Amino acid sequence: MAPNPMKFVDGVARVKAERPALEFGTGVFEYAPAPEATDHVRLEPRYGLFVDGGFVAPKSERWFDTVNPATEEKLAEVADAGEADVDAAVKAARAAFRTWSKLAGAERGKYVYRIARLIQEKARELAIVETMDGGKPIKEARDVDVPLAAAHFFYHAGWADKLPWAFPGRSVAPLGVCGQIIPWNFPLLMAAWKLAPALAAGNTVVLKPAETTPLTAMKLAEILREAELPPGVVNIVTGAGETGAHLVNHPGVAKIAFTGSTEVGKLIQRALAGTEKRLTLELGGKAANIVFADAALDQAVEGIVNGIYFNQGHVCCAGSRLLVEESIEEDLLARLDWRIRQLRVGDPLDKNTDVGAINSRAQLEKIRELTRCGVEEGAHLHQPECALPARGFFFPPTYFTHVAQSHRIAREEIFGPVLAVMSFRTPDEAVEKANNLAYGLSAGVWTDKGAKIFAMTKRLRAGVVWANTFNKFDPTSPFGGYKESGFGREGGVHGLEAYVEVS
Ligand code: ADP
Repeated sequence: MAPNPMKFVDGVARVKAERPALEFGTGVFEYAPAPEATDHVRLEPRYGLFVDGGFVAPKSERWFDTVNPATEEKLAEVADAGEADVDAAVKAARAAFRTWSKLAGAERGKYVYRIARLIQEKARELAIVETMDGGKPIKEARDVDVPLAAAHFFYHAGWADKLPWAFPGRSVAPLGVCGQIIPWNFPLLMAAWKLAPALAAGNTVVLKPAETTPLTAMKLAEILREAELPPGVVNIVTGAGETGAHLVNHPGVAKIAFTGSTEVGKLIQRALAGTEKRLTLELGGKAANIVFADAALDQAVEGIVNGIYFNQGHVCCAGSRLLVEESIEEDLLARLDWRIRQLRVGDPLDKNTDVGAINSRAQLEKIRELTRCGVEEGAHLHQPECALPARGFFFPPTYFTHVAQSHRIAREEIFGPVLAVMSFRTPDEAVEKANNLAYGLSAGVWTDKGAKIFAMTKRLRAGVVWANTFNKFDPTSPFGGYKESGFGREGGVHGLEAYVEVS
């Protein structure tokens, strides 16, 4: 076995002024910069609220800046919706519901298809805006977020005129106005996950994007106008948590769909207790990615990297706990360590970048704090030597060994590019450790044996279990959690059910 090349490092900010280089034999191969052009992207200096089919200035008269986390430059000003603004949006959605809910399914479907096609048409601009506003690598915005957003609209457009077949023998009716609150990690994609089933089922919507990533929602509003979606069917109110709380508490809303932190999910659940409002919650996670000794190790390493460093680890279903069978731990970690050192961290708009910017200063602070805590609690920190840009919010891909299950880095959602590595000796121990948390959103199993996959997936308390892959999404496949990761499913017929009254 090759000697373990890992270095154990004590400090947290272990950054050298060099970029990582790909080593091929004795030579060194360095990528040339490949920045995506932004000159064709059209951003308004200021975006109002999207209410009743048009952009309006907020009654609150408050605005806030949205910045590029890779450069800390201001991109635009966005309205901060107050209670009266949310009320106007809900009223518009209620008025629109009267006609939208009566429209033939095939007609509704046409609008939803149109939105899907317009997203495809504007894919390049949407990907760039997503990357500029949120910090994710352009190759991910381009190849994952935007195509999947279009796919969600396409898939649900197909259901619009087939609802009676989705729930055979039962009558199906829309719910009314859906208040939808989304996070900043997949801004356009989360908007698509929420809007597409709601619209296909005949509901109207008030959507609240996250405060650090409102711009693709504003672009989507322009698309909805271009698609000639009837005014009021979708309204978009920007703002922070307070705006979200106004939406949750508005008596005119029939359902709340929330994706975000477990902490806020609990607040919302408390606020809705005793009301007739429906609720679905997609909350945090701390997924176990379990690698058995019989797995294809190089493939597993790619899955581990994709599981935790995709989107800088800003992924609720991220494989943030690696559970590796003890007999291969040293070998696997040597391969993983080498692979991590090849990841290119930096300008999200560069097409070669693997790990982009952390979404906000506050999130960077949270990642730093938990990483520091990992070191203090006795885990061993591993970070590649990579230069981070002088400006912007960046954090190197990181992993910890010598992690105990009691460590905060093994229990809390870091929502950053930080992996906690632990080992196991038997499948029972792997299951025990994987399930030993309040979260239950996703998990991964890597093994050569099909029977072992089924034996494990049956016992893992996680809404999604990937086998020999990780972080794969499809609109036909339901997604959602157990325990404190929330309830309700998004995607597939299960997801559709959350937007209809079936009797
Ligand atoms: P994160 O910790 O990942 O930022 P949050 O749960 O704070 O996640 O945010 C997810 C979404 O919930 C955002 O759109 C945010 O503005 C919104 N939000 C935050 N606090 C509240 C609240 N008390 N009620 C409703 N929505 C909220």
